[in-house]
Amino acid sequence: MTPSTDRNQTLFDRAKALIPGGVNSPVRAFRAVGGTPAFVQRAQGAYFWDANGKRHIDYIGSWGPMILGHGHPAVLEAVQKAAMDGFSFGAPTEREIELAEEIVKHLPSVEMIRLVSSGTEAAMSTIRLARGATGRNMIIKFEGCYHGHADALLVKAGSGLATFGHPTSAGVPADVVQHTLVLEYNNIQQLEEAFATQGKDIACLMIEPIAGNMNFVRASLPFMKRCRELCTQHGALLVFDEVMTGFRVALGSAQSVYGAAIPGFKPDLTVLGKVIGGGMPLAAFGGPRAIMEQLSPVGPVYQAGTLSGNPVATACGLATLKEISKPRFFHELSARTKSLVDGLKGAADAEGVPFAADHEGGMFGFFLLEALPANYTQVMKSEAPKFAKLFHGLLDRGVYIAPALYEAGFVSAAHTEGDIAQTVEAARAVFKTLKA
Ligand code: PMP
Repeated sequence: MTPSTDRNQTLFDRAKALIPGGVNSPVRAFRAVGGTPAFVQRAQGAYFWDANGKRHIDYIGSWGPMILGHGHPAVLEAVQKAAMDGFSFGAPTEREIELAEEIVKHLPSVEMIRLVSSGTEAAMSTIRLARGATGRNMIIKFEGCYHGHADALLVKAGSGLATFGHPTSAGVPADVVQHTLVLEYNNIQQLEEAFATQGKDIACLMIEPIAGNMNFVRASLPFMKRCRELCTQHGALLVFDEVMTGFRVALGSAQSVYGAAIPGFKPDLTVLGKVIGGGMPLAAFGGPRAIMEQLSPVGPVYQAGTLSGNPVATACGLATLKEISKPRFFHELSARTKSLVDGLKGAADAEGVPFAADHEGGMFGFFLLEALPANYTQVMKSEAPKFAKLFHGLLDRGVYIAPALYEAGFVSAAHTEGDIAQTVEAARAVFKTLKA
């Protein structure tokens, strides 16, 4: 295809004239891997078609929400029906209660919930709530975890524990991040030191229990156990950011995975997004009544939203949750995802390419490394040029994975064994070219 007949390129050029970088969220621009982003024309099931009419097997699924695949009939029907009844009222509706009931039913740690419109908003509001409820300022986050783009969360580690973090974005004043302590993921010693020195000032520890923003890295059981113990001991709140893992790795979310392994385990607060909106702008945060009732209008912590609990978004989320609650849904999704990562691993091994992969439910990650990494520094040892070659080799063959090595992947219920087989064969062909 010449540049003049490539409609993706034409659209990208048009977009770049009007929208910074041509995209409305940075990772879409293919900056890490180079080349022209695929502009999506339409999607159905496990596939989308780009502006050139080319079909792609979609392992991004809007970065997680599309757990049923695109255009699931029950979800479409619910959304269409809701839209006919009105787009937005700025007044309460019954469906908000139904969605809250559906979410709370599957998460024993959550008694009350507030709906918002994005994961960023949910995480930001949770931090405010944790600070308001504890009367403390300090928060802990981990390097490689992403919790949206609120100022206080755009921080990277300083040179040592005694130093404060540095903003990772221009426009974030150093004083705004002075209360954010950034620690290494899975590092128990650093965690213990942080609580020993600043425990009485820590409002909350926010963590992605299975980090999907440094590809796919699990918090180890001993590390998670220590997070829980130290938070309890020092009166800090343990916040699970399950925007990505919520209703994606299991019906009970990542907290059910840790709960099954650590007796009595649960987080204090949970941040949700993505799957609970089924692809519509919807997110939430929740926890015990005593903490949640600190929120306005009953409590002193202010939080609000014109489009919060939007009637079309709640219809979409509710229909999605009903489908994924059906018996064996997660069993089958997990088996399909396992068959993908096992297939990729087998193909890489056969071609002598270093490869390590992991998955939980319908979320997966793989690395061009000999072993699974445990933290951000180890993740970044992946060779970016090799990953870019793999990405483009797959893209050419109609397989669409995340255009950056620090992003997780997603399998939906619409992916078939045939799709998986086609993906593995495409990967095998690319692995042959990666050996050298
Ligand atoms: N938390 C996590 C764990 C996420 O993965 C994301 C988005 N990828 C967010 C928060 C922010 O969500 P949103 O993009 O909806 O603002």
